[in-house]
This record gives sequence, C-alpha cells and structure tokens, in this order.
Amino acid sequence: MPSHQPVAGMSAVDPEYLSSQPSPMAKSNEPNREKKYNPEKKHITEYPLTRENWYKHVNWLNVTLIVMVPLYGLITALWTPLKLKTAIFSMIYYYCTGLGITAGYHRLWAHRSYSATKPLELFLALCGAGAVEGSARWWSRDHRAHHRYTDTEKDPYSVRKGLAYSHLGWMIMKQNPKRIGRTDISDLNENWIVVLQHRHYLKFVIAMGLVFPMLVCGLGWNDWAGGFIYAGILRIFFVQQATFCVNSLAHWLGDQPFDDRNSPRDHVFTALVTLGEGYHNFHHEFPSDYRNAIEWWQYDPTKWFIASMKLLGLAYDLKEFRSNEIEKGRVQQLQKKLDQKRARLDWGVPLDSLPVLEYDDYVDQCKNGRNLILVAGVVHDVSGFINEHPGGKAMIKSGIGKDATAPFNGAIYQHSNAAHNLLSTMRVGIIRGGCEVEIWKRAQQENKDVQFVKDGEGNRIVRAGNQVTKITEPVTTAGAA
Ligand SMILES: [Zn+2]
Ligand SMILES: [Zn+2]
Repeated sequence: MPSHQPVAGMSAVDPEYLSSQPSPMAKSNEPNREKKYNPEKKHITEYPLTRENWYKHVNWLNVTLIVMVPLYGLITALWTPLKLKTAIFSMIYYYCTGLGITAGYHRLWAHRSYSATKPLELFLALCGAGAVEGSARWWSRDHRAHHRYTDTEKDPYSVRKGLAYSHLGWMIMKQNPKRIGRTDISDLNENWIVVLQHRHYLKFVIAMGLVFPMLVCGLGWNDWAGGFIYAGILRIFFVQQATFCVNSLAHWLGDQPFDDRNSPRDHVFTALVTLGEGYHNFHHEFPSDYRNAIEWWQYDPTKWFIASMKLLGLAYDLKEFRSNEIEKGRVQQLQKKLDQKRARLDWGVPLDSLPVLEYDDYVDQCKNGRNLILVAGVVHDVSGFINEHPGGKAMIKSGIGKDATAPFNGAIYQHSNAAHNLLSTMRVGIIRGGCEVEIWKRAQQENKDVQFVKDGEGNRIVRAGNQVTKITEPVTTAGAA
C-alpha cells in the first residue's frame, strides 16, 4: 500500500486531519487544513498522472470507505440471511440518515434555509454522521463552494469534468486544496453541534454508521450480523450513492425551467433517488428556500420532513421565496427559449435591409413579366406561389403590378395571420413615394411600439396581427390606386 499523503480537507473521514482542527472559537475563516499542511510544497495534483505515480493521485481512505467496504458488504451479504425486521429497520434508517444529509447537512447547515432547535440539530448531526459522507462542517464548506463557483475550476464536484467525476471521481482522486473556491463558514464554527461532530467525527461515524444499527438489530431481534451488513454497510452504501446523485445526476439529467446558463437540472427521477433534492435547477436559483420542489404534487420528502418538524415546534424560520420572484425567473427562461425558437424561423428579409423602389419602376417590372405584388408599401415576389394560392390563380394575378393593400386586407378577402406571415417571406423591396408610402407609414405608426420590439438576440419580434402588411384601419385611398 502506498504511503498515504494526507490532503487538507479532502477526505470524507481523515482522522489525522480531523484531530488537528482549530478550536471551535478559532478565527472564523481559518482554512480547513491540518498543521502539517505546507502550502509552499507542490501538491500531487500539480504533477501529471502517469503510470508510475497514479497511486499517489488516489485518495485511498475514500476508496476504502466508498468502494472497498461496500464491496465487502455485498460479498458478505451472499451468506448473511436477510431478516424481515432487519430489512424494515434498514429502510427506516436509510431514510433517517438520508435526511441527516438532505435536511441537515444540505438545507440546514450549508444553506441555512431554516432554523432548528438543538434537539433536532443533534438528531440531524447524528443521522448525518451515519451516512458516512464527511462532517457537516466539511460537507457544507465544499457545498457552499459548489454553489458559489458552479461548473468552474473552483467547484469541488464540477460536472464539467464528467458525470463520473461529479459522482465519485472527486472523492476517489485527490484534490488540490488550493483549487477549491473559498467560502465563509464562520456561522458553522460558532455552532457547537457542528463543531462537536466535526472534531469527533470518526467516533460519530463508527457509532452511528455501524454500532447503532447493529445494536438495534442485535438487541431487538438477535440479528447482529444482519445489523452489521444490511443496516450498516449496505445501507451506508445506498445512502452514499443516492446522495452523491445530487452532485452528478442533478447536474446532468432533466429540464432547466429557471436558468440554463449552468448545469443544474430538475428531474423527478433524481428527486426519487435523493429524497427530493432533484429539483436542482430551482435549488441553484433559490438556494436558501427550504423547498426543492415547489408544487405540492412533486416528490420532496425532505421538505415534508422540515415542514413536519415545524408543526412539532422543532424547526422555525422556514425560508421561502415569493412566488412572484420564482415566476419571474420561470417566465424569463421561457422567453429565452421562445427567442431561440423564433430565431430559427424565416421571418423574411428585414424591412431595413430591403432595396427601395420607385412606384413606376415597380409597375414597369411587372409589365416586363415579373410577378410582384405591392401590399402596404412592401413589394413581394409571388412567382413561386401563384399556382398554390388558395384563392385561385386569377385572384392573385389580379393584384400584380397594383397596390393590393386593400384587397389583401379585406376589400376582397381578409387574409389570415398565416397569410401575412407567408407573404413576409416573399418580400423583395419597399416603395418610395405616392400614396402607397403613406399607407406604409401609417402601418408603421400603428405598429410602432410592437414592430421595433427586439428579443435578447436583437431579432425583431413580429406578433400575430402586427405584420407590416396588416392594415387594421379601413383603407380608402389604396383601393383606388
Ligand atoms: Zn448543485
Ligand atoms: Zn445546495
């Protein structure tokens, strides 16, 4: 076994580093590292991974805790009979330890989305330790960095480095402590329960991860082995894998209803796996909201747990963003999606890019055989459409070389919104001078506000019924032209 080089704050359970933690009242933002740590010395992660040094890059303690031990549990389970009572207790304890992470580590300590009374905090600190995912203090520090520096180099479990990295790789491989973004955990350093759990983490882990479930199953129904393998090791394995999904799956699978600039996503599957932490796009937008799911029908048992604790008087100050703020984010994201969709469509050559024709020139060109039609000051080449015109060839031909503003807008037929849209794709020029331009100007004035509204990409938004060819007021002069 290669010599294990302790890495500051990078191990789920590193007794050497834990025992050398600063006192609870130490300076608030003192780096989370051991005394032996020398920032001057080049860290192993600063050397490229090679065939000779790969084992030095591996965090063997974490490999043991999250790979070797579960593997041992899986194999031993083959000849360890599973009793019904042990199975039921393992499930219950799975939820308790899962909530220790989601309701405790995550929503209470990392985000302070609610306040808890000391008995509840103690319960969560004990259960959280039973999940064997590091101390609440260590976990919250990394998680705050994850929120502050999402998807960047400073994100401890950036999904940009791959799904496997964000799930397990970041724990299995050593991380350079200089790389992780710094965060303020002064509030946690002032919390005696968090500090106690951090300083005696190993005792907490052994007691809550293995001894407690063994005692329950052993003293309860004389199933010591089952308690050790099923309620202990395998339950830890499943809780770990489930909660690791918040870092991996929740940044990879699902929709982005609030913001799509970063990786967090919402998916019911992730929610089912992670006790409700699957509405992660919402969570990254509103991290201090005690909810992840905002709809009553969405699966968020962590939220239900916190709300129940409030009813019991054990939790208070539950933070919620106003639905007005939440909906604003949702509408903006919808608008963005809409803009992207709109930008992919052909809305015709922009009016200001069209050549300007004299009216006489337009008439001449039609006499020479071009199939142009003038509607509201805009010239359209309808050559390809004459045979397809739903109103018949004769009708469309009767407009060639004339001002068809009035016939197109109701004098003969009130064309549909779709017809105006289609017509805009045929536009080839704009007429200068004459009464047609007056109509064109009027149309512009009528639609003034709407016509020059642009989306986020600078593309003009043409709303239904606001096409430039659409004349809403009765046209008297144009019909005579
Ligand atoms: Zn996240
Ligand atoms: Zn979070």
